[in-house]
Amino acid sequence: MSEALAPIQRVGIIGGGQLALMLAQSVQRLGVRCTVLDPDEGCCASAICEQIVGDYDDSVALKQLGEACEVITYEFENVPAAAGEVIKPIKPIHPNPDALGYAQDRHRERSMFKELDIAVPEYRAVDDAESLQQALQELGTPAILKARTLGYDGKGQALINDAATAEKAFESIGSVPAILDQFVEFERELSIVATRSITGDIAYYPLSANVHRGGILRVSKAPARDVSAQLVEQAQHAARQILNRFEYVGTIAVEFFQIGIGSDATLVTNEIAPRVHNTGHWTIEGAQTSQFENHMRAVMGMELGSADPIGHSAMVNIIGDEPRPGALDSMPQAHVHMYGKSPRPGRKIGHVTLNAPSEAELDALLERFTRVIG
Ligand code: AMP
Repeated sequence: MSEALAPIQRVGIIGGGQLALMLAQSVQRLGVRCTVLDPDEGCCASAICEQIVGDYDDSVALKQLGEACEVITYEFENVPAAAGEVIKPIKPIHPNPDALGYAQDRHRERSMFKELDIAVPEYRAVDDAESLQQALQELGTPAILKARTLGYDGKGQALINDAATAEKAFESIGSVPAILDQFVEFERELSIVATRSITGDIAYYPLSANVHRGGILRVSKAPARDVSAQLVEQAQHAARQILNRFEYVGTIAVEFFQIGIGSDATLVTNEIAPRVHNTGHWTIEGAQTSQFENHMRAVMGMELGSADPIGHSAMVNIIGDEPRPGALDSMPQAHVHMYGKSPRPGRKIGHVTLNAPSEAELDALLERFTRVIG
């Protein structure tokens, strides 16, 4: 008879931002503690976690994290895939770090989607001004040029309305390898968050409908409205294919564009985030088990909790400035999560979740919230 594994008492998290904070909060009541690795001393998650101060590619700090904890996870996709190689000989790391290399490179990511029979926007790989012109001839305008890899001084994307401006657009993203996406006339942006356990069970959350402005997520509503069984199946198919492809353990988000409405509606897949995701923050109050707790349960080898929704939820990001003091005093229904980050334009410093038994009550609550917050 195999011996039962001792319950896990300490999880290591690479990255110590708000996602790590909420991961650690989700298992506090289970008595599980976390240690985070982050270069910023006093990072958000350090409020409730031990912190090792170090870069994500600092092999000494990574080894220290591996030795201090029983299992390791990560909170964001810019962790160098090589960090996984440092951890693997010491302790298990979930999700599979191979997923990072795909999420960090839009061309590899899209090629993987195609291999897995997941519909994507029409796109071409672009390496220089010449291949960009060729791609524009094939796809037409408007089109969106996106650097393959992230984090190039924020110069990641350029909309091209006219092939004559292509060279400028290519320069504006830093003349780096890219993909050219046909512009999708989408109805709305949807995402699915799902968690896969160590034994391969998958918990799918209902789809979220997401509104972005200036490239930043503003509001997610879930369960998304007017979603046919066919759309749900398409979203779950995409999530399942990707999760199984990597024998993934933990929470993932897949982002889609919905094209068409009603029975003609279909999804194309834009990208994945191999981690807990902003479009799943509503699950803390709005689902039986949050995306954070399910991620941690998966990583610790536990059975997953139910991903069923509780009523209807809206998550509103707090971006740039803190709400005026006292602004939300009259709204006990607003579940406020501040991350302890200093305000800065464009920075996500918290979020608020509203939850109600019906869509109409949620809309009324959201309207009141918008008025109160000014
Ligand atoms: P991404 O970095 O790929 O998530 O893109 C940021 C935002 O740009 C998305 O949330 C969309 O609003 C928009 N976008 C990205 N790709 C396309 C596309 N192919 N067609 C239309 N809009 C897009």
